Amino acid sequence: MDLTRSRRLYAEARRFLVEGVNSPVRSFKAVGGEPLVMKRGRRAKLFDADGHAFTDYCLSWGALILGHAHPRIMAEIKAQLKEGTSFGTTTAAETELARFIVKNVPSVSKVRFVNSGTEAAMSAIRLARGYTRRNKIVKFDGCYHGHFDDLLVKAGSGVSSLKASSSLGITKNHIRETITLPYNDTPALVETLEKNRRDVSCVIIEPVAGNMGVVVPDMEFLKVLRKITKKYRIVLIFDEVMTGFRASAGCVQSEFGVEPDLTCFGKIIGGGFPIGAYGGEGGIMRYLAPSGGVYQAGTFAGNPVVMRAGWATLDTLKGGMYRKLNALCARFAEDMNAFFVKNDIPVHLDTFHSMMSVRFSRAGVTNYREVLASSDRAQYGRLFQFLLNSGIYWPPAELETFFVSAVHTVKELDAMAKALKTHVQTKGGGE
Ligand code: PMP
Repeated sequence: MDLTRSRRLYAEARRFLVEGVNSPVRSFKAVGGEPLVMKRGRRAKLFDADGHAFTDYCLSWGALILGHAHPRIMAEIKAQLKEGTSFGTTTAAETELARFIVKNVPSVSKVRFVNSGTEAAMSAIRLARGYTRRNKIVKFDGCYHGHFDDLLVKAGSGVSSLKASSSLGITKNHIRETITLPYNDTPALVETLEKNRRDVSCVIIEPVAGNMGVVVPDMEFLKVLRKITKKYRIVLIFDEVMTGFRASAGCVQSEFGVEPDLTCFGKIIGGGFPIGAYGGEGGIMRYLAPSGGVYQAGTFAGNPVVMRAGWATLDTLKGGMYRKLNALCARFAEDMNAFFVKNDIPVHLDTFHSMMSVRFSRAGVTNYREVLASSDRAQYGRLFQFLLNSGIYWPPAELETFFVSAVHTVKELDAMAKALKTHVQTKGGGE
């Protein structure tokens, strides 16, 4: 591959940006080699500065469920650009996106828009603390909720590559009130919440984890979590920044029939623009300023360009599109896992509909300890580079999730299946 332009642009980027990136995982440190500089995207394809095409399974970290430059979203944005870009006032566009969310997500009757998933989780926690007037928070090992200080303990995603599984620069005071527990461990959850019931404001969880690769929860664990948090008036926060509107319009909570008190959204609801949101029942949302005493604000919150891109995305996705995408992904994953078993290759895909991740073990995993036990960074690096050379762009880190969009074709998925099979057979699979 001739990467002359990409190399030159990346060298230039390194002069002015830390390691040439604005978010750590983009640096390819987890997979080796230099990041490609991307220039353009169209449907499922991403094109680098030298003009190479890649079928994109990173999809802006799960934000682009309709692929790149979807015509309906483009038209919506163009229409808004003619009217102006940012007003800092109420607009009809934000009401429409909020209406869509409220109509489809049963636990949400009021929404607040922010600019990132980090902000959504951070603000939901502040609201939970203000509402309960308690301080402690409970999270789960390997879950990532953005880079908010109080949550950067044993977090997944890029944080998992740091030595202490946490960040420098975070004071003890910030994490003193944070309890982190193993995912799917019901006894540990019950014991901790019973012991700390007067102090715990909220439990925050990815209802399907995607930041330690995909980990699907045990239903009994989720049901106990809902029951015990209700019993002790602890706010249950579902972080659906990654899962929200990915597999159905009702989100994971509808599919599982477990309703949280607050939900965080991001990624997909912004139609490819920066966004976050959180919402819940009126009773708790009323604690937010200006009606209540929990302060949270934003210059660009509810930006009309973002709102219209988000609304066009969700409106396009209705019904049949989810069914088709989920079925395509189920077929792909079943085929791959059957292949690994049949050929006795210690590789497994953990999946939740169009969210998938690869494990270097014979079976799926249920918590962060098992995730780390099955992890093989060097092997993932080789797989990543092989796929890249085959024109397939995966997330450049093992513990990230890869995504399929609603515009990926059967042909593109077949090409990925073929590349994966070739690699694990010729390069030794989970050696
Ligand atoms: N929560 C979850 C579940 C996420 O996956 C992410 C980002 N990957 C975040 C929060 C943070 O979102 P953002 O990067 O938009 O701040």
